[in-house]
Amino acid sequence: MLPQLLLTRIATLMNPKWNGQFSCFDLVAKTSEHSRSVVQVRDIEIGGSDFVVMAGPCAVESESQLLQTAEAVAEAGARILRGGAYKPRSSPYAFQGLGVEGLKILRKAREVTGLAIVTEVMSEEDVDLIAEYADIMQVGTRSMENYALLEALGHCGRPVLLKRGMTATLEDLLRSAQIIAVAGNSQVILCERGIRTFETATRNTLDIAAVPVLKAVSHLPVIVDPSHAAGVRSLVPVLSRAAAVVGADGLIVEVHPCPEQALSDGNQSLTFDEFRHMMKDLQPYIDLQQDDRQLRPQLLAVGGAD
Ligand code: PEP
Ligand code: MN
Repeated sequence: MLPQLLLTRIATLMNPKWNGQFSCFDLVAKTSEHSRSVVQVRDIEIGGSDFVVMAGPCAVESESQLLQTAEAVAEAGARILRGGAYKPRSSPYAFQGLGVEGLKILRKAREVTGLAIVTEVMSEEDVDLIAEYADIMQVGTRSMENYALLEALGHCGRPVLLKRGMTATLEDLLRSAQIIAVAGNSQVILCERGIRTFETATRNTLDIAAVPVLKAVSHLPVIVDPSHAAGVRSLVPVLSRAAAVVGADGLIVEVHPCPEQALSDGNQSLTFDEFRHMMKDLQPYIDLQQDDRQLRPQLLAVGGAD
């Protein structure tokens, strides 16, 4: 497809209502000079021409669980390993994560597989510690409006994966991204992970339209989390395909060696086989969007832990 045609397609997506609504977030809003940014993590470009998949367990449970998963997801084509060491849980009695021990296991998995690491940070007090281990700092749905945390992430020296709050509008999400950027860190990746609606058949409602809207109004990369949106593993592959087709820059997916024994989110975690199949079936849908992703973006900055 000709670049001019692509530019026209993008211009058609720019609705004056959205421009007016979001232009106050000047550091993250799309402008004609700054239409797209890439967040670079080690040798991986998020928001560039590749569709980047992050995968791994909800929580780091043990060294063998994480290493097995890391090897399986790397072989299937994931570039980034996810896994929570600090877990925000709906019940105070549920597994809260292994803490620093979990971070050390994540670091070992990076050494063994070469995968970059994304892990959640829940409190501003943990930012410096987690930044020593993580390549990407994940802000969970429950923390999206924790402004003290967002400000601390402004000077953590790592890219931030900012998940949409479960009751947050896109304006709220972009406001939080702007807070991180104003505090000094423009390496932000937005993540649609489903929102709370009256629907109860799924854990959350995946707002698939959020992807093209965010891509139209912001220059930041946008990924989708089909696992927390669905709450059940059978829906994860089809929601992933939908994400690829609407122009997402990647996915974050939960995978576990034995989902029925997972300490958290087993229902929505894929087995290794399911993940492998999903990645294979996804490729034609990724290819459909390849022309759009080829538009060379503007490089922002380089991140990655040692
Ligand atoms: C997670 O990624 O495991 C998680 C807790 O996600 P969210 O914050 O989107 O619920
Ligand atoms: Mn989870």
